[in-house]
Amino acid sequence: IVDKDASFFGQPGGLQTLFFTEMWERMSYYGMRALLVLFMTASLQEGGLAITVASATAIYGLYTGAVYFMGLPGGWIADRLLGGQRATWYGGIIIMLGHIVLAIPSVASFYIGMILVVLGTGLLKPNITAMVGQLYSSNDDRRDGGYTLYYMGINIGSIIGYFVTGYLQESAGYHWGFGAAAVGMALGLIQYKITQPKLKGVGAEPPKPLSPQGAKRSWGIIVALLAGLAVFTVAALKGIVTINPVIVAENVAIVFTVIFFVYYLSIFLFGKLTKDEMKRLGALFLVCIASTMFWAGFEQAGSSFNLFARDLTDRVIGDFTIPTTWFQSLNSIFLVTLSPFFAALWINLSKRMINPSYGFKSALGLIIMATGFIVMFFASQAAASGLKVAPYWLVAVYFIHTVGELCLSPVALSAVSKLSPKRMAGQLMGVFVLTYAMGNVIAGLLAGGLDPENPQAMPELYWTIFVFGVSVGAVVFVLAFFTRKWEKLAPDDGEDDHPGA
Ligand code: GLN
Repeated sequence: IVDKDASFFGQPGGLQTLFFTEMWERMSYYGMRALLVLFMTASLQEGGLAITVASATAIYGLYTGAVYFMGLPGGWIADRLLGGQRATWYGGIIIMLGHIVLAIPSVASFYIGMILVVLGTGLLKPNITAMVGQLYSSNDDRRDGGYTLYYMGINIGSIIGYFVTGYLQESAGYHWGFGAAAVGMALGLIQYKITQPKLKGVGAEPPKPLSPQGAKRSWGIIVALLAGLAVFTVAALKGIVTINPVIVAENVAIVFTVIFFVYYLSIFLFGKLTKDEMKRLGALFLVCIASTMFWAGFEQAGSSFNLFARDLTDRVIGDFTIPTTWFQSLNSIFLVTLSPFFAALWINLSKRMINPSYGFKSALGLIIMATGFIVMFFASQAAASGLKVAPYWLVAVYFIHTVGELCLSPVALSAVSKLSPKRMAGQLMGVFVLTYAMGNVIAGLLAGGLDPENPQAMPELYWTIFVFGVSVGAVVFVLAFFTRKWEKLAPDDGEDDHPGA
């Protein structure tokens, strides 16, 4: 059965539901995230928390890493217990509660709010993303285009977030910005409920439900873990246990990486995969490696590029000073503008029977992203002389990085959904979202290692990222020749051919 529904820009109507829900969710996520480091480092008089920059960037890295790390259990919960639709709904509610708590001005509510956003996003993000792919049958070639459109929604949401929360923070204070994030998520939930019927059966039930006893036991474990987390949080807030965020962040990068490999390996060993499924997941593994490296470089945006914009860029044009946070929104603005061209490019190429593989496109994205660091190398060298540099450097870098992102990121989401066995769709999207987690934490560590006293530290870091990124990209490129045919193997679980059934 092929779903002929093409009511949303030529895509299935269910995409409308997922597009707008994720748009509002990302509005709240990026809107809040844009304020995070500023809020933590601002003095008490300015309404901040007066935390040191080193601790604040570590907490920022841990938060963004944890948000994506929780996609792993979140994906599992959808596959075995809730199904994608309910996971998205409850996830969104928890996120909204998190932002409401964040809007209350107190230290305790700040941390509790962040924990809620982490838990909610883990439940929502991988599952809403996996449902996009489930709108298509395995031979529907609108899938890539659907993910490109969905990815535009992500970035439209980000743009709204950056501007709204940034504006509110400056005119009314941080907590109004956090409150706006809650309103954004609420709008997303309302539109989700209203348009949910468009999803038809997609994600209505868990694809591989546990037995009733198994489900009961799992819920018991989940509740126990949450209770443990609550006790730990209270103990940390009361100062009974002390946490050094910098040390925790250093170890978390290693822990995430080990978990990624162990989880992937265990799917191979215990996932009862057929030979073809193994090959398809082998091809996906290559995309995961490229994705991790990509985000480790790309996510300098929120850390070292942000500082570069604030401290080393001449932001004064006549009477106007460009706000620091505006630079980050360049990525989303370029993305939304360039997406239609990329969508047309892939369609055009496929009409000429040129269909670059997922592996090839991700290698290309990684190499393009790494090349952007040559620009940053020269920019930071110019800045090392003591003079502030023109804003065009960052504009150029964000442009190049966005081109790289368009080759890799929406394409990779499509790859996950296409290459995963349907019964593991949520879980594998969770594993993939873990590549964001690893990338984000590594990016934070790289930026955290910068020494403000040493002007050569920045060019050195950027040169290293360039060399490393291009090298890994070249290896992925070569390996993609081998995984290319694996990507083409047909899925074995025939259910793949019944979207919405
Ligand atoms: N901007 C993308 C999203 O929010 C990717 C984020 C990331 O850090 N990988 O989905």
